[in-house]
Amino acid sequence: MSSQYIKIKNHINGEWLDESNGQYEPLKNPSTGAVIGEVPLSSAETSRQAVAAAAEAFPEWSAMPLPKRMDFIFKMHRAMVDNHEMLAEAIAVDQAKHIAEARGEVGRVIEILQMACSIPSLMQGETIQGIANNINGRVIKAPLGVFCGVAPFNFPALVFGWFIPFAIGTGNTFVYKPSTESPLFMQRMMDLIIETGLPKGVVNIVHGDRETVEAWYDDENVTGICLVGSTPTAKSIAAGAGKYGKKTMLLGGAKNFLLAMEDAPMDLLIENVLMSGYGSAGQRCLAVSNIAVVEEIYDEFIERLLEASKNVTVGDAMNPDVFMGPVISAKAKERIHHYIDLGIEAGAKLALDGRNPELPEANQDGYFVGPTVFTDVTPCMPIAKDEIFGPVLSVMKVGCINGGLRMIRNHEMGNGACIFTQNSYYTEKFINEADVGMIGVNVGVCAPHPYLPFGGIKGSLVGNNKVQGKDAIDFFTQNKVATIRTVDPKAGQPAAANKDSSVRSCVAG
Ligand code: NAD
Repeated sequence: MSSQYIKIKNHINGEWLDESNGQYEPLKNPSTGAVIGEVPLSSAETSRQAVAAAAEAFPEWSAMPLPKRMDFIFKMHRAMVDNHEMLAEAIAVDQAKHIAEARGEVGRVIEILQMACSIPSLMQGETIQGIANNINGRVIKAPLGVFCGVAPFNFPALVFGWFIPFAIGTGNTFVYKPSTESPLFMQRMMDLIIETGLPKGVVNIVHGDRETVEAWYDDENVTGICLVGSTPTAKSIAAGAGKYGKKTMLLGGAKNFLLAMEDAPMDLLIENVLMSGYGSAGQRCLAVSNIAVVEEIYDEFIERLLEASKNVTVGDAMNPDVFMGPVISAKAKERIHHYIDLGIEAGAKLALDGRNPELPEANQDGYFVGPTVFTDVTPCMPIAKDEIFGPVLSVMKVGCINGGLRMIRNHEMGNGACIFTQNSYYTEKFINEADVGMIGVNVGVCAPHPYLPFGGIKGSLVGNNKVQGKDAIDFFTQNKVATIRTVDPKAGQPAAANKDSSVRSCVAG
């Protein structure tokens, strides 16, 4: 990837546009701290202009025969396969996700697009024949109009995959706002989408922050808003968009537990804790951050965890030889340091301090935090309660499975939780009783496959709608129900029809 200055642009009605209000924010490479470009902070007017373009494109797009519409989804899939490396590099540059993980994220979106290729089967409605003489009923899954989507910084490709293929595949049009901290993936992806020949206005991009999103709340052309982001942002959108009756799909923040039982396969457990806790520098909504360990293996676990954590290498996200890249910004790094201070103040033992890791010269100004481990943590400490969103692990001792489950139940978040055990009783009990949306058994990052719904419960989800799978089809369509009486044109009016009680009940209902 060239090191040219990157000017991020909006894409509205088929055109790449500079932001007319002239406001831009610097785009940085978190691995070096260097400014690598700029990203627009779009005005409310620009944001509404994108919605108007999507609204204008909707009638023709929604009326397009389904196989023709799906052709664009197939082409998007092909384009991602052919440009896998280029797209991964885009993520590794501005979000500074480690290049190996960035490749993994793009790979997952390719699978999501495969799933989206089954939209025609999933959009099939239902019919019931013979409700009464010559009367049939039919459910039609119809598109709704313009949807808008808001992405977090940490999964620029994945969230594109969760929203856009399903929204447009089902016949809606879309306005997408990436995070200002990781806009490059969508700029590159949009170039590929344009090459598919997608009609103008079907997918539009506006960059910006809160103001850009708030412009959609009272816009009558907007049917619904989706977000993947923190819980306060989800609640703010629920309140703002809810006032105007918009449909919403709002995935929020997280704080995930891992419960290690006495029969946990130790090598697998340690490997998964490293992947889950330090992968993406701990900036995943499914990252493990609280680890509850039964007392039988507590000491052994800590010894093994510390030994393995000390060997985790930190450096430039583009360096294939390191394990972990930086966090997203100087502000995020400061916030993580603040939580490390809070952990110490609360009386937890800082067994491994990731502040100020050793770095190569070129990365001295990057935003790095090394693997950090607290032991002797209790559930009421801030490091166990709040989402830190960094490579900080809090290890707690529990007496038995019930102690671990209690901690999960008492936590306000409910995104994911994992258990490591070989015992089927523990497994089933955990699946039944851990009140989170996504569960892992001997799996550290319990991200459901694209054919299944993805989303948490409790404080991790605002409302009920989840992404992926059939849930995505339900969100982006409406069920219209038709009751149809057929009349034989040669037989004249069916005079006796209204005496049929089931017809009268249909009419009355
Ligand atoms: P964030 O909430 O700060 O921002 C998310 C998006 O919302 C950004 O595009 C931002 O510009 C916009 N935004 C911010 N404040 C807004 C407001 N008041 N009104 C409207 N829009 C607003 O989140 P982030 O820091 O970019 O991402 C990290 C968060 O996302 C974490 O909490 C993480 O757990 C969560 N996340 C959740 C999932 C999930 O599946 N549940 C997945 C990925 C990330």
